[in-house]
Amino acid sequence: MPVLTQAQLLQGWEGGAGQGRVARAVALAAAAGGHSLTDAGDLPLGARDALLVGLRGACFRGDVECLADCPGCGEELEVSVPLSDLRRPADAADGAGEGELTVRGRRVRFRALTSRDVLAVAPGGSASPDARRRLVGRCVLAVDGEAVEEEAVDGRAMDGAGLTDEVIAAVAAALPSVDPGADIRLDLTCALCGHAWAAPFDVPAHVWADVDACARGLLADVHVLARAYGWREEDILALSAARRRFYLEATGT
Ligand SMILES: [Zn+2]
Repeated sequence: MPVLTQAQLLQGWEGGAGQGRVARAVALAAAAGGHSLTDAGDLPLGARDALLVGLRGACFRGDVECLADCPGCGEELEVSVPLSDLRRPADAADGAGEGELTVRGRRVRFRALTSRDVLAVAPGGSASPDARRRLVGRCVLAVDGEAVEEEAVDGRAMDGAGLTDEVIAAVAAALPSVDPGADIRLDLTCALCGHAWAAPFDVPAHVWADVDACARGLLADVHVLARAYGWREEDILALSAARRRFYLEATGT
């Protein structure tokens, strides 16, 4: 993945600022992958998050530092996560995020969950049983070769479209097989009590925190230099880090 310019990073930040966590992730993935927002929203969640991990590696150094509460003793642990722990093998995405299974003799074709699905059904991250059912329903492409239209997935007409509770449960259980990178977990062991568990890792939240801090720092530099020299934002962002540092020091701030 090419290193993002600071202007591109700022563009991703601007697109995600003030938005919910899913829309932020889409804005960053679009900036990182050179996609439109629509295309980034249609990526399987694992492919979207792989772009964010790539962005983190291209733009920032070091491990991801985070905190985790031990479920055994409640102690807050500081955890350093190497980026290699967050990468999934590229071949895991083979099959274009689609799969097929058989439920009571019926062939069900399905695809991985996307950000667009989440934004359409549960933008705030609400996971009511009905929302979960509709989310999984949106992933069903066809039952016995009969395409399932998006309008059929409104909760009431689902049985009629072949989306019975049994089909939904089977597809929900099979989703990780077509998108293994969508749910990244870290194997942690508490240094205090020895409890071992698999902690979910929120890729968008952590990458956003780094991008947010970096963007605010860049804009603060622009503010100081623009005020001191009257330069335009795009010209300041085009300066090398060494030159910018020199001019910042020269302003005496
Ligand atoms: Zn513990």
